[in-house]
Amino acid sequence: MKDKFYLIGYSLVFIGVALFIVKSTESVSIYYIDYITIIIGIGIILVASLIYGKEKNILCRAGWHRFEHVGMDDEIKFALIYKCKRCGRTKRVVRSSGGGLG
Ligand SMILES: [Zn+2]
Repeated sequence: MKDKFYLIGYSLVFIGVALFIVKSTESVSIYYIDYITIIIGIGIILVASLIYGKEKNILCRAGWHRFEHVGMDDEIKFALIYKCKRCGRTKRVVRSSGGGLG
């Protein structure tokens, strides 16, 4: 759910910037749709970071952690433990033969 909020937020900002570029290169009149899209996108990201963000660092609040590999999991075999350098948040990544990145 959290990731969806960020995805929607960042998508809206991206679309807004794209519209802004289109507006400045082509002479199309979309009024303030680009600005409104960017503002709504930033708003969603801010709201999501307020609801879900317990991390102190601003970049971590935006979901941009600096994970580094710290060790192996004792309970689950083939699980690697990553820890964020900034906020100390950990995540487990299970190495599987057929799966993608967790
Ligand atoms: Zn972090």
